[in-house]
Amino acid sequence: MFAGDVGDGCQGLSSVFARAANEPPLAVSAKGSWITDAEGKLYLDAAGGAIVVGIGHGDPDVAAVMSAQAADLDWVHPSAFSNGPVEDYAAAIAEVAPVDDARVFPVSGGSEAMETALKMARAFHISRGDTERTRFIARGHSYHGNTRGALDLSGREPLRAPYEPWLGQTIRVPGVNEYRCPNPSHPDSCSTFHAERLEAAILETGAERVAAFVAEPIGGAASGAAVPPKGYWDEVTTVCRRHGVLVIADEVMTGFGRTGEWFAADHFDLRPDLVVAAKGASSGYWPLGLAIASGEVHDEIAAHGGLTHGFTWSHHPIGARVGLAVLDKIKRMRLIDRARTQGEKLQKGFAKALGGHEHVGDVRGVGLLLCIDLVESVDSKKPFARVERVTERVVERAREIGLLLYPSTGNVDGIDGDYILLGPPLTVLDDEIDLIVDRLTTALRGI
Ligand code: PLP
Repeated sequence: MFAGDVGDGCQGLSSVFARAANEPPLAVSAKGSWITDAEGKLYLDAAGGAIVVGIGHGDPDVAAVMSAQAADLDWVHPSAFSNGPVEDYAAAIAEVAPVDDARVFPVSGGSEAMETALKMARAFHISRGDTERTRFIARGHSYHGNTRGALDLSGREPLRAPYEPWLGQTIRVPGVNEYRCPNPSHPDSCSTFHAERLEAAILETGAERVAAFVAEPIGGAASGAAVPPKGYWDEVTTVCRRHGVLVIADEVMTGFGRTGEWFAADHFDLRPDLVVAAKGASSGYWPLGLAIASGEVHDEIAAHGGLTHGFTWSHHPIGARVGLAVLDKIKRMRLIDRARTQGEKLQKGFAKALGGHEHVGDVRGVGLLLCIDLVESVDSKKPFARVERVTERVVERAREIGLLLYPSTGNVDGIDGDYILLGPPLTVLDDEIDLIVDRLTTALRGI
């Protein structure tokens, strides 16, 4: 069966402008950690799609609240009405988000949420009379979305390359990845090294021109789940505060329990001015993203005429109702604790099965956000040449034996680099963890 053999069984070319260049199978159902295609083949979703699925696929309670909400109040324009689900959801998010006196602006995904946060940061400075603060600083080996503003923040060369003439506003500081740390005296003083680079970038630009520093508190696909060194966020935040630069934490991949805390910022007692979230917020049941501002940022903007910004689908009642149901499941099923315990089991499984593997350079991450960094040589950490398409081959082999992984390539030097990301649903069972380890080990054989 091809992607073009659509639901009614008629053969022929698909009219879909497909996301993937190859012809992916047609998915027909999903339950827990498993997806079934039109030929009845079962896939173990070890990456939750793109590290999205937290509460598991096919939850009937979420389906029921979506349906009920659509019957009660399907949609109202967000500039004309507020709605009950959005009010309740924002209040529930304010209880768990690592932001003081949080104000929540729900949108349709991570990139939209990032664009919203950038505008909030800009609006905050304009409200204070700091009108020159237009520039954003972001790190290498980072990803913040595919819309123009978010892509410009992103330190992912392969994704930027075709659009480079449109980009170039973002000031870049080094990426944070202890396995390939750019600090000449690594492992000593890495936090200080990064804080100094950030401060130098601020001073070079002129502090009065810098709006915000944007970063993932724990790395996502672009750095391969890299955890910053102890002290990093303290030092970096101190630099930002010294220069009136806001901190925007991108928690699109790491939020909603993925790393074993509500948000990755919680590992570091980080209190950003703005948080951007998506993915696990709805666990895939609805296109949902969140830009979360501190009360201080919100009030400053509100006092000076509000935010010039909006989307037709923002503050959607069904999205908020889904978000609320997912949040409730995370709490009731204790999925944050589960991310920790199941993540440890997965790490142990990999250590046992892949320890000493000649091409596994690093296994890193925290909770149920893990990365296997594949290298040509473990001793030199030299990546495979891109032409070898190692990641693609491993992901394809894994798919053949019914294991879904999330690939990330080109992140060592903009061309080479082979990361295999794992992020199964937080509900993943013990025997599913064993199966992930077994099948991944098989897929890595003979690379
Ligand atoms: N930020 C991070 C860290 C991400 O991982 C992603 C998506 O993978 C985004 C932003 C963009 O989110 P979306 O694909 O929902 O636009």
